[in-house]
Amino acid sequence: MGTHHQSISFQTRGDCDIIDITERVEEIVEKSKFRNGICTVFVPGSTASVTTIEYEDGLLKDFPDAMDRLVPEDIVYEHHLRWRDGNGHSHIRSSILGPSIAIPFVDGRLTLGTWQQIVLCDFDNRPRSRKVEVMLLGD
Ligand code: ZN
Repeated sequence: MGTHHQSISFQTRGDCDIIDITERVEEIVEKSKFRNGICTVFVPGSTASVTTIEYEDGLLKDFPDAMDRLVPEDIVYEHHLRWRDGNGHSHIRSSILGPSIAIPFVDGRLTLGTWQQIVLCDFDNRPRSRKVEVMLLGD
């Protein structure tokens, strides 16, 4: 059992930007030469998340719409009253979805469903540079 680590960087537009990072993660699994194990994908930062989605035009609209309904931007946030940074909703969305996922890989391939892509969601209210940490535990 060993580990293999790599960081990957992305420029986001913020405001619920959803970026398909599946290929970049798959490349890391291939490069590791591991056959079986767990792939953890983690984004540092309190206004972004990593999750999976079917990456198609309908859901790419539905998902931000759902976020607007669940965690509206235009309500009062104590975070904003304290820090004046206007991104209380961004923090809450990020906490609800979480910063990481773990995906098993078998015979050198991630066990994702056919219509299941790995996405980085940036909920902040401005464009950001994001680093995503990919850590494999396997052999
Ligand atoms: Zn903030």
